[in-house]
Amino acid sequence: MTLAGRTTSAVDEVTSLVSDLIRIDTTNTGDPATLAGEREAAEYVAEKLTDAGYEPLYVESGGKRRGNVVVRLPGADPGRGALLVHGHLDVVPADASEWTVHPFSGEVRDGYVWGRGAIDMKHMVAMSLAVARQFKQDGTVPPRDIVFAFLADEEAGGFQGARWLVDHRPDLFEGVTEAVSEVGGFSLTVRDGVRAYLVETAQKGLMWLRLKARGTAGHGSMVHTDNAVAKLAAAVARLDAHRFPIVLTGPVREFLQGVSELSGVPFDEDDPEAAVARLGSMARLIGATLRNTANVTVFNAGYKSNVVPSLAEATVDGRMLPGHEEDFERTLAELLGPDVEREWDLLPPVETTFDGHLVDAMASAISAEDPGAHVLPYMLSAGTDAKSFQRLGIRNFGFAPLRLPPDLDFTALFHGPDERVPVEGLEFGTRVLTRFLLNS
Ligand SMILES: [Zn+2]
Repeated sequence: MTLAGRTTSAVDEVTSLVSDLIRIDTTNTGDPATLAGEREAAEYVAEKLTDAGYEPLYVESGGKRRGNVVVRLPGADPGRGALLVHGHLDVVPADASEWTVHPFSGEVRDGYVWGRGAIDMKHMVAMSLAVARQFKQDGTVPPRDIVFAFLADEEAGGFQGARWLVDHRPDLFEGVTEAVSEVGGFSLTVRDGVRAYLVETAQKGLMWLRLKARGTAGHGSMVHTDNAVAKLAAAVARLDAHRFPIVLTGPVREFLQGVSELSGVPFDEDDPEAAVARLGSMARLIGATLRNTANVTVFNAGYKSNVVPSLAEATVDGRMLPGHEEDFERTLAELLGPDVEREWDLLPPVETTFDGHLVDAMASAISAEDPGAHVLPYMLSAGTDAKSFQRLGIRNFGFAPLRLPPDLDFTALFHGPDERVPVEGLEFGTRVLTRFLLNS
């Protein structure tokens, strides 16, 4: 590719960009010592943007060598709010012994690009990069400003990426009113030949709780009635046994009704779990958006067989539906009881409506490339960098378009072994993204 004459289109280069990005091991364990690859990936992206004629801004959070890259492509109407297209460069760890191909090979085999990050989310990073390059080289002026952001640290909470930029460089997102990123825009085959593309319009909130129970320390051979380990164990067992009630929120109802219309199987509002059970592998993801959840994930106590310790500690991963922050906290307090000390970090839920020009642009870009396909809103049970951008008043959508084969267990690919993205789906997604951004 040269500046003088574009010889490679976005669709032509997207697969090799994904492979290149996968080959840069950007594993983010949260430990700064392991993070060399993240910076290398940011530099790779910056170089590709520079080659295309941009002057990208490379921003590191407080000298910690955590690279973020941001460019703005000016649009025709500066009076309209800008659109942010963001993606994270880091990935979760991968154990090569569990994989068919090496997780950092980026190998193209059997119609897929294989490797850690293929789905979460280097495919979208590559699509955005390819389209950004094509627009610049073709002299395309989109309807409004587009800000492309390639970010560090999403897999460890975004503290050195999106969160840091929102706190320290909000100027980079000046005028941005809407954003698109991961975990949406993928297809779900509802029945033979009938596809719905899921647009994420909401995310559950998360509450990471640190619990402590205190008791009287002493010799393990004696009578004890004030045991910290037993107290905390009983409290987390009560929490585990609790089933939070089903709450049918707007996006989940709209999604299940939409699937019902497309599949012809009636949707019984009194039994949403039955509707979720019919969703195949997608049931794992959608099922978690019917209710709040709280899972104990870490439990630490004691140091010797014959010593009763004075302290036991546990961590709980709590997730609540939009609008349920307060009652979730209240229920946890009741279940855990007064003897358990609680401290927590809360990242609130994210929610927007499924309407407006941008949603129409998603639907028309999808149907131009997949005639007869439908778009449906849905809620994500996990969190993304959207949580940070919401703090700037930005409307967030998960829209990383991807057409998937009907039998692919898509949700198992996130953070799982043999993560891979279909080449055809990737090229399809690049065409959809191009149309969408031209009409955004
Ligand atoms: Zn991700």
